[in-house]
Amino acid sequence: MGTDYSNEIKGFLKIHRDYFETGRTKDVDFRIEQLKRLKDAIQSYEGEIMEALHKDLRKPPFESFATEIGYVKDSIGYTLKHIRGWAKGQKVKTPMVHFGARSAIHPEPYGTVLIIAPWNYPFQLMIEPMIGAMAAGNCIVLKPSEYAPHVGKVMEKMIGECFDERYVRMIIGDRELATALVNSDFDYIFFTGSVLVGKIVMEAAAKHLIPVTLELGGKSPCIVDKHGNLAVAAERIIWGKFVNAGQTCVAPDYLLVHREVKEELMQRLIMTIRKFYGDNPASSPDYCRIINKKHLKRLVNLLEQEKIITGGNYDLDDLYMAPTLMDQVSWEDPVMADEIFGPILPIIPYDDLDDVIHRINQRPKPLALYLFTENREIQDLVMQRISFGGGCINDTLSHVASPYIPFGGVGASGIGAYHGKNSFDLFSHHKSIMRKTTKFSIPLAFPPYGERIHWLKK
Ligand code: NAD
Repeated sequence: MGTDYSNEIKGFLKIHRDYFETGRTKDVDFRIEQLKRLKDAIQSYEGEIMEALHKDLRKPPFESFATEIGYVKDSIGYTLKHIRGWAKGQKVKTPMVHFGARSAIHPEPYGTVLIIAPWNYPFQLMIEPMIGAMAAGNCIVLKPSEYAPHVGKVMEKMIGECFDERYVRMIIGDRELATALVNSDFDYIFFTGSVLVGKIVMEAAAKHLIPVTLELGGKSPCIVDKHGNLAVAAERIIWGKFVNAGQTCVAPDYLLVHREVKEELMQRLIMTIRKFYGDNPASSPDYCRIINKKHLKRLVNLLEQEKIITGGNYDLDDLYMAPTLMDQVSWEDPVMADEIFGPILPIIPYDDLDDVIHRINQRPKPLALYLFTENREIQDLVMQRISFGGGCINDTLSHVASPYIPFGGVGASGIGAYHGKNSFDLFSHHKSIMRKTTKFSIPLAFPPYGERIHWLKK
């Protein structure tokens, strides 16, 4: 018999609901004060967070700062700069038929939102959505991944110290707890994780008609056309693939390269791996580890020795797998079945771009797509003909780091998008209000209608 979490969850949901009801979180000054408090807390916990990221994933301090800590600090700064404007709402036009009325859209918080995060960027993927939820004026319950326990513990301490627990709380637990949470009566669920669990979350939420955002994964292609700048492409692909040892939702999952430039690109990719991580990446301070043995074993099963052109070695005790390139891969190989989520890059040559487009379009819509080419027509063609969450031309990953563009998937890679103002909008219900005058009435809509239908039709 597992633990029954339902009474505990009901209990704290009531506490959040009562607190929300007081209206405190709706006050923009309150939201600003809390966001500043969060920023200060992150500043003072910076060392502990970095240490925890190192323990969980052996993240180098540079990556921890650039992709997790510094990233969310910038995001809080951006939110603080714009929050008053976003929260003010918007006056909009009113049709002439409602002469004398005014219309406006008022963003309002949903209530208590649940945020579930994965283990790969365990700090950023928890705090980034939280910033949007706070900015919009919600109460928040945070559930981190059990697979990054050190980061989970530091965040729990930081959140506990920083906020009134009627407003924000973090609960640590296993999948049973997660299941109980998504089956509870939250006002919104924001989930980041796998497609498989995303489906479970959506099904559970549907029972209570709870709106959801699903930030999922999938196989994100990277295409290198014969007109691509190969020197630039090699560096940007190796960086995007092997940062966090390939455990990045938007990592280029597989590489499609025009046959004419394949050999040259492969040589450059191999050289770049050496340049970034040295002759033995296991001893590089800049190379992460796989989250746990189970995931490493899953990755090992994807290796086909005769196809490996560099890397392929691993160490189960050290949770290490070398940056690995696999050549002569076909679309039917096991490595092409599911999201790799690790440091293996399969390479498939192509002759015909149309065929590549067709094959990608036959698969679930990817979270990201990257295209390397200097040819503008090819850029336009690929952008128009393939549907994907977001991506880059002549780079990888960078689109995720801009608050000016929404980040999210499409189809099987997710529902909804956040970052910057999109985060504020995502965690707000946009309430439409028409304010009418009582000084006069034009009672055309009231019965008896007589022959008025003729006016309507004119
Ligand atoms: P996961 O789906 O296994 O777990 C994610 C979270 O869901 C964890 O906190 C876990 O405890 C919780 N969970 C597990 N079972 C649950 C259930 N039945 N009900 C509710 N919650 C449950 O994913 P993961 O292994 O932590 O992360 C890897 C996946 O996440 C990859 O597919 C990756 O592409 C995706 N991802 C997506 C993004 C994005 O922004 N789109 C970012 C990072 C990771």
